[in-house]
Amino acid sequence: MTEIALIIDLHKDSGRQGPGSEAETLRALEFMELPTDRKLLIADIGCGTGGQTITLAQNLNAYITAVDLFPEFLDRLNQTSGKLGLTDKIQTLQESMDDLSLEPHHLDIIWSEGAIYNIGFETGIKKWKDYLKIGGYLAVSEITWITPNRPKELEEYWMQQYPEIDTASNKIRILEKNGYTLVGYFQLRQESWIENYYRPLEERFESFLKQNNHSEPAMKVVEEHRAEIDLYLKYRPYYSYGFYVAKRN
Ligand code: SAH
Repeated sequence: MTEIALIIDLHKDSGRQGPGSEAETLRALEFMELPTDRKLLIADIGCGTGGQTITLAQNLNAYITAVDLFPEFLDRLNQTSGKLGLTDKIQTLQESMDDLSLEPHHLDIIWSEGAIYNIGFETGIKKWKDYLKIGGYLAVSEITWITPNRPKELEEYWMQQYPEIDTASNKIRILEKNGYTLVGYFQLRQESWIENYYRPLEERFESFLKQNNHSEPAMKVVEEHRAEIDLYLKYRPYYSYGFYVAKRN
């Protein structure tokens, strides 16, 4: 199995592939003034197995296009939406977030939790803007420094992983520079990392290694996830996901 296939295998049976929670998805929604007289058109980009997609479908009168690069995640989302009777609200689309076939100026909301880093925050918000109606909303969570300074070890790790990591004020400036107005911001709670994402992931390590006969690549995937978790536990006062809710000008 390739490294990416192993990573998919490790994550595909989880309800989430990144930090977040139902409460925080709903909190981001609260910043929006949405029409109630018609169905909303929404794209959930980098939806994974669709934790947040389901929350949106359960709480809005909407058609949601749930986009991800990997069919394994979308299959699981289709299963869940089938079980919950939400198939008329959620349609999955296997595409890359930097090359979407969505109609321009069409969407009321673009949602994306823990995924925009795959193409970079600034590239993502620029590319996606065209799909939004004027006055449509962007709700995006992005890794964010929560203090002005931080330890060298942490800084070095993130500069290697994702050099676009920055403070909220700088991220907001990027939104403003690119034709959005911020309507709300908050940070994900620590429980949303630990209870909802890291703990279920850790519980999966043993069976994942067993299934893959403790192969060297499988051990490497676990080690990398372990290192990410350990770093978070050590340095969590310094970074989180920021949830940015903005309106297209
Ligand atoms: N929103 C989900 C998943 C976040 S993990 C949650 O919060 O639980 C990031 C997701 O982005 C993964 O599901 C991954 O498959 C997807 N992804 C990575 N690169 C992508 C790309 N180029 N286009 C679309 N999706 C991508």
